[in-house]
Amino acid sequence: MTDCVFCRIVARESPADIEYEDDAVVAFRDIYPKAPVHVLIVPKRHIASLAELAAGDAELMGRCLLAARAIGEAKGLAERGYRVTVNTGPEGGQVVYHVHFHFTAGRRAGSPR
Ligand code: AMP
Ligand code: ZN
Repeated sequence: MTDCVFCRIVARESPADIEYEDDAVVAFRDIYPKAPVHVLIVPKRHIASLAELAAGDAELMGRCLLAARAIGEAKGLAERGYRVTVNTGPEGGQVVYHVHFHFTAGRRAGSPR
């Protein structure tokens, strides 16, 4: 069994509230939500962080953003809006080293600090 928590969720070896799935991407609710809506969008293939991206990962990263658009539409948020963020490395606040996009919504976001 992998020691990557998000790979375990992708493999259905760990529980998660799945909100969206396609052949390349899975999205599930953050267990410690920091906004009224807080979903994590994860590529199924393990990539540790944005700092590890290769040119060949460009399509997969685009697929994650298309998943964000689909989630926004499914939740009726396309007009009100939402924020999509990626924490990278220790000073970027990354804790889980499987690249993921935080989709947050439901209250007005301030400027990124
Ligand atoms: P980051 O700081 O960008 O690495 O964010 C990691 C996020 O993953 C945090 O918001 C955690 O609350 C969330 N998280 C960690 N483990 C799980 C899990 N098993 N299921 C859902 N969310 C998780
Ligand atoms: Zn992983």
